[in-house]
Amino acid sequence: MAWKTLNDMDLAGKRVLVRVDINVPIVDGVVTDSTRIRRIIPTVRDILAAGGKPVLLAHFGRPGGERRENLSLKQLIPTLERAFEVPVLFAADCVGTEAELAAETLQDGQVLLLENTRFHKGETKNDLGLAEGMAKLGDVYCNDAFSAAHRAHSSTEALARLLPACAGRLMQAELEALESALGAPKRPVTAVVGGAKVSTKLELLGNLVDKVDNLIIGGGMANTFLVAKGIDVGISLAERIMKDTAAEILEKAEKTGCSIILPSDIVVAKKFESHADHDTLPADQCPDDGMILDAGPDSVARITEVLENSNTLIWNGPLGAFELEPFDAATNAAALKAAALTRSGQLISVAGGGDTVAALNASGAANDFTYISTAGGAFLEWMEGKELPGVAALDQ
Ligand code: AMP
Repeated sequence: MAWKTLNDMDLAGKRVLVRVDINVPIVDGVVTDSTRIRRIIPTVRDILAAGGKPVLLAHFGRPGGERRENLSLKQLIPTLERAFEVPVLFAADCVGTEAELAAETLQDGQVLLLENTRFHKGETKNDLGLAEGMAKLGDVYCNDAFSAAHRAHSSTEALARLLPACAGRLMQAELEALESALGAPKRPVTAVVGGAKVSTKLELLGNLVDKVDNLIIGGGMANTFLVAKGIDVGISLAERIMKDTAAEILEKAEKTGCSIILPSDIVVAKKFESHADHDTLPADQCPDDGMILDAGPDSVARITEVLENSNTLIWNGPLGAFELEPFDAATNAAALKAAALTRSGQLISVAGGGDTVAALNASGAANDFTYISTAGGAFLEWMEGKELPGVAALDQ
């Protein structure tokens, strides 16, 4: 994949149309988590430093193609100004005369924020006319919204084909991390896939058995694999109708030489509750009224051994019901091991997907991972081996 970065572009005096993800949570008009805004600071800072004029394009919520005041990006101006430490001007539409004038008259050291792209119905339809309107506002296009790159929208796909295009710093960091984990990884490569259900991660598992050397399966989805092996899992979360599919994945893994690691021992409770009474048992001895909520210490020892013999790790999904103590034990132990191996320089570790970030943050391991992607859907689709339209469009 040949995409350009900001370093490859001549930015001096140019209006740089930057697609960002600033879809931050807001309660009563107050931004409650500004992580997404903080992550685009390097891109905005580098464009300004190179003499460029950043014009920000973004969506916010799901207005469904209509102007909705509560989803106006205007309310983010104070947070953006604090983050960038420069004045942020605003245009009340992302196309049209007012926006064109605002972009044209933008001064050095200022940022222009355009109104929510999804106020236009065409945005989610990848409408070319809308993209042409946006293209009038910039000389260069920079996509820094990896988390929106799995969608072919006017501001992520069509627009990228109309202007000289490049990846922003955040997009660049994501692509480089992902490339090092699955593109041309240092082997052996191990994947950890956990979480609730097999059905939501079928394509992911199918792609990974082709690409990785070891696949550690945990969480509720491991129960479905135990069922596929003829093991009774009591009242555990398991998708019994998926057992043939799970068996097919096991068979495929055998053919591709991917070693699958399932729990060998389990932590079983009677209720889905923090500190519920629990027992640690061999994986094939779950009582009829028992619920598997975590992998046991023997499984953790096996996982540790696999990690010690790996050079690359890619992780999505917790190994147990990590929100409930002490059923976060296997997730925490494996995460801390991966963090230690990364610190010592032996392991490249990349993790992503909604609950995974929360689980790794809770374990205290997140800071030591090589890269943690906060892009939920885009990260998963990339792990599934799919082409992301927003990334493909940068490949010109
Ligand atoms: P996912 O969104 O697919 O990554 O799933 C994450 C969810 O799976 C978390 O809310 C976990 O509590 C849940 N989970 C993981 N292991 C189990 C388990 N053994 N039983 C029930 N839920 C689980």
